[in-house]
Amino acid sequence: MIVEAKLIKRIPRTANVESFRFVLLSKVDNKPLSQNVNSVLPSPAAAPFSAKTGVGSSLNQRFNFFPGQFVQVIFDRTNISNALFNKYLSFSSSPTKDYMEVTKKLSESQFSQKLKNLKIDDTVFLNGPLGNCVFRDNDDRLCFLVGGIGVTPAISIIEYVMEKKLGTDITLIYSNKTEGDIAFKRELDVWQAINKKVRVVYIVTEARPEDKSCLWGVLNKNLLIREVKDIDKRVFFIFGPPVMVTAMKNLCVEADCPGRSIRAENFIGY
Ligand SMILES: Cc1cc2nc3c(=O)[nH]c(=O)nc-3n(C[C@H](O)[C@H](O)[C@H](O)COP(=O)(O)OP(=O)(O)OC[C@H]3O[C@@H](n4cnc5c(N)ncnc54)[C@H](O)[C@@H]3O)c2cc1C
Repeated sequence: MIVEAKLIKRIPRTANVESFRFVLLSKVDNKPLSQNVNSVLPSPAAAPFSAKTGVGSSLNQRFNFFPGQFVQVIFDRTNISNALFNKYLSFSSSPTKDYMEVTKKLSESQFSQKLKNLKIDDTVFLNGPLGNCVFRDNDDRLCFLVGGIGVTPAISIIEYVMEKKLGTDITLIYSNKTEGDIAFKRELDVWQAINKKVRVVYIVTEARPEDKSCLWGVLNKNLLIREVKDIDKRVFFIFGPPVMVTAMKNLCVEADCPGRSIRAENFIGY
């Protein structure tokens, strides 16, 4: 489905990461446009979770997606394959929210410039929802292995679990270069403070962290086994650039995680 969406809010997350919140304006087409990345799979037949959009306006249409899915943000509608202007971004909000949020690690690219130039009330086209690496309500124990901007779909899933009060047991192992690179830290700290089943393990790989709750080092087998005692009982979600996804899949295999429990999404483009 292609929709036209209006920007309602921008939220800086770190020095170079920003979130963009949209509400639905109108449905443009019922069919997703053709895809140009290998990892993009058809979305599940019917996403049962509905992000009500258009709140605050007279519009009352819904955009359905599963937590963990993504959209193609389209600035060039004349050529959908234009990878310079049309890129994939994961939802970083729960589908229960009245808005759809995506979060971009901003660069000097033309796509990033288009996003940076967006003003409140500007509109974009969104193609989706896309992707099969999703959370389902009967997944009762999760472990996320994410690096950097790969946290975005994890945020959508955790926010959804919090909003629906599902009681899902969640460990998020979240690696960044420095403490300053940790996006969504405030939200994650609030969630783990109010829900004892949510636990975040922050790791930074470069400068030694000042925050004592933040580990310094690399996410390896020893760390995984130490932090996750019930590896065989969890669904593992891996999101991030292809190199990182491959490394984390190998780590799961080394740590005897059952292959059927691993769900991964490659953020192609990094
Ligand atoms: C399913 C999915 C979900 C994603 N979710 C997010 C998200 O939530 N947030 C987010 O910020 N990004 C996400 N991405 C990545 C996003 O689509 C962009 O590719 C990425 O943000 C880089 O965009 P840019 O315009 O800043 O890239 P650029 O600055 O142009 O590129 C960044 C680096 O990647 C290299 N590169 C660019 N394109 C390719 C390519 N096709 N193949 C190999 N290398 C390439 C460039 O040479 C450069 O080194 C996702 C991608 C996918 C496929």
